[in-house]
Amino acid sequence: MTASDVIIVWFRQDLRLADNPALAAAAATGAQVLPLYILDDDNAGEWALGAASRWWLHQSLTSLDKSLHGKLSVLAGDAHEILLRTVSETGAAAVYWNRCYEPWRIDHDRRIRKSLQAQGVAVRSYNGSLLYEPTTVHKRDGSPYKVFTPYYRNGCLENAPKPRPLVDQPAGVAFLALPSSSRIEDLRLLPAQRWYERMATNWTPGESGAAQRLDAFLADGISHYSKGRDRPDQRFVSRLSPHLHFGELSPHQVRQRILQSVADDEPDENREHFLRELGWREFSTYLLYHWPEMTRSNLQRKFNRFPWREDSSELQKWQTGQTGIPIVDAGMRELWQTGFMHNRVRMITASFLVKNLLLHWHHGEDWFWDTLVDADLANNSAGWQWVAGSGADAAPYFRIFNPVTQARRFDPDGDYVREFVPELQPLPDKYLHAPWEAPAAVLQEAGIRLGRDYPQPLVDLKESRARALAAFRSMTPAD
Ligand code: FAD
Repeated sequence: MTASDVIIVWFRQDLRLADNPALAAAAATGAQVLPLYILDDDNAGEWALGAASRWWLHQSLTSLDKSLHGKLSVLAGDAHEILLRTVSETGAAAVYWNRCYEPWRIDHDRRIRKSLQAQGVAVRSYNGSLLYEPTTVHKRDGSPYKVFTPYYRNGCLENAPKPRPLVDQPAGVAFLALPSSSRIEDLRLLPAQRWYERMATNWTPGESGAAQRLDAFLADGISHYSKGRDRPDQRFVSRLSPHLHFGELSPHQVRQRILQSVADDEPDENREHFLRELGWREFSTYLLYHWPEMTRSNLQRKFNRFPWREDSSELQKWQTGQTGIPIVDAGMRELWQTGFMHNRVRMITASFLVKNLLLHWHHGEDWFWDTLVDADLANNSAGWQWVAGSGADAAPYFRIFNPVTQARRFDPDGDYVREFVPELQPLPDKYLHAPWEAPAAVLQEAGIRLGRDYPQPLVDLKESRARALAAFRSMTPAD
């Protein structure tokens, strides 16, 4: 390549300049680099970005554009067509990108590569977002793992090749912008109604926001992570998931900083536990790559016969945090207000939906997809299949969380519930997680009328548990 050549760097879920292999490789050729983002809703189909993700993306593109001194080009439409058109407009000699693993993207990328190559345009793709790509880890017989522990032990720890080294942020690159670029506002990622304002106070999307979040976690969270990660009332988890999803930082950068934070030869349960959670992120993408149908189909086929109920009113009460079960309502309201929900509470709210209400996990998956700022096709479908018991390596269906016991254990002082269900604030701790157990005098003293100020529980926890177990038993034996 010469300085007059043009390389298009197609940004997707790698909205950063540092440790970006496609960008670094393009810059290293000495060619001019055209950074391009394409919003391709049609090809994404039912997995087009949800509302919270669109809000995030708007901020993240704005931040990337700033880092590129206004040289980020953005367009909306079919990426295939747009790339071919941009190549012919600019005479670009090559298109570089970092790989994505959503099934629709894999198919689409394959077709794009073929068309570009047929026109004599060089195509190079890189690993920007996984420590271990799905094709590199398999059992001795060559088949993919279905169970996390052996996958993690053999694929990521013992005998596993080390993840690729970090690549430097390129300097002195001649960036080029398309005259036909839209403005980021023209992508219409922000909704007309400004419902996202509280969400905006919780997050700083973009590469520098991601770096600050990682610094804050290293300063305050990691040293309590292993024991603290289950406590939604405390701040010991990293909240890096949206930054990782949009690639504002890579798992390689996170891993390296975590390893540097503790002397290498010292065993450290917090460090190991955190790296294991990053391993779950890898494993979810691995499962999606090998079982692309898992976004909608039960990985355990016997669940195709599960007698799900349909009840739109109950679903709506779950979505809006009006179930009358405080920890469930707190989680669903946290999600609505902040675009995030703590992992422990994701498990509790999901279990309540699929077990106590017997509503299909697809409903939960869809709602999370629309409302989470970290909505990620692999992690979300793997998470739902895990809770529903239908996944490859799932929680057994018959292990049913009792949301009250969970709440008493993981939100012992009720701080989390009081934050998101303020109408219950005056209740004494003893009754906070199960207000229906409170004597009338206690409710009166707290000024709460159940059924008016706060809902009566949508279901009886004991009866709905028994109903779920009966539904589980009603499935005929596995295929
Ligand atoms: P930390 O505890 O700080 O963990 C660090 C990183 O490890 C996370 O940022 C994430 O990238 C990864 N990670 C942690 N736990 C998991 C896990 N169980 N599975 C996969 N990766 C994990 N995560 C998403 O990123 N997007 C989703 O759409 C999503 N949907 C979920 C749906 C359900 C029903 C459940 C039970 C879990 C879901 N998760 C999802 C996984 C998990 O809840 C979040 O990754 C985690 O809560 C993010 O918070 P954190 O960054 O503070 O995590």
